Amino acid sequence: MYKTSIIKIDEKNIDIEKIRKMAKLLQEGKLVAFPTETVYGLGANALDPKAVEKIFKAKNRPADNPIIVHVSDEDMVYKLAKKVPKKALVLMKKFWPGPLTFVVKKSDIVPDIVTAGLDTVAIRMPSHKVALVLIKESKVPIAAPSANLAGRPSPTRAEDVIDDLYGRVDAIIDTGETYIGVESTVLDLTSRIPTLLRPGGTTLEELESVIGEVKLHPIVKTEKDIESMVVKSPGMKYRHYAPEAEVIVVEGKSDEVRKKIIELVDGYKKIGKKVGVMTVCKSHEYKTDIIKFIGESLKDVAKNLFTTLREFDKEKVDVVLAEGVEEKGLGLAVMNRLRKAAGYNIVKV
Ligand code: AMP
Ligand code: MG
Repeated sequence: MYKTSIIKIDEKNIDIEKIRKMAKLLQEGKLVAFPTETVYGLGANALDPKAVEKIFKAKNRPADNPIIVHVSDEDMVYKLAKKVPKKALVLMKKFWPGPLTFVVKKSDIVPDIVTAGLDTVAIRMPSHKVALVLIKESKVPIAAPSANLAGRPSPTRAEDVIDDLYGRVDAIIDTGETYIGVESTVLDLTSRIPTLLRPGGTTLEELESVIGEVKLHPIVKTEKDIESMVVKSPGMKYRHYAPEAEVIVVEGKSDEVRKKIIELVDGYKKIGKKVGVMTVCKSHEYKTDIIKFIGESLKDVAKNLFTTLREFDKEKVDVVLAEGVEEKGLGLAVMNRLRKAAGYNIVKV
């Protein structure tokens, strides 16, 4: 059991002394949860295998799931990568700092535990000021997966981190809500044509406008349980982002989706279930226990998705019926997370 300290920091008026204390913890091999613009991360010194091992323990993370390494300057990239491909340079210039992670061949300084034994490393420079200053002050690259227990929805507020990791980490930095709400995009640059392994805060369309063709790994749009699929990004095979309730995604034209959900609500109510509905259309009304409107723009939907799944758990609903969105822009990431949260329990209308 850890004694967890919770440190509030104002991103607009950063108290550097507080950050230095947190950076010192990281240098001592301790665990610090911190905000990024996407979701909260659980950080440890990426060059210290013992520290990274603590991340796996704290999260109950399977050992074959590699961790993204966060940097605050480009020099760190040259230390972590065996070779920095041209496309990485272009991407760094255009999208960093920001929600884009790229995968390149790793150098010898990256411990095997970080990459789960792969010969590649995933690297990102976050744009959240507190994250950047923290990494800079700690003077080492920071390995950081999302700061949730493995399998739970990613945390977009310090309260979510506290719910999952209080007593399991040394410190939690609280700056309030994150901005994007879904994790970074993971792009593999080791294949001839770059491959999107995980859709996220940087859209496929944005990437293609800068580097041309990008392949979608089949897992990105999968609608099946892919536990048995051979995958390049091992983390993607786990059923996660899941709340405790059963989640069903209903996909199709808005009107058809509404009709189907009305029918499903009815069916579940008849057998005595507590039903929640997550809608992306303000005018949709349902006769159900709880209805949560998560926004109409894809930006709002992405931002509120994980938080809302956690809220349904707090209200102890048995079933969540979620309206799907179009798979374009941020919608690709939203649908990827939602289908996973539903354990691929998808109804198409
Ligand atoms: P998270 O734990 O939420 O930060 O997710 C990290 C994601 O990045 C997971 O899906 C990992 O599988 C993926 N990832 C990390 N390192 C690598 C790597 N070297 N190659 C491919 N995917 C990676
Ligand atoms: Mg995660």
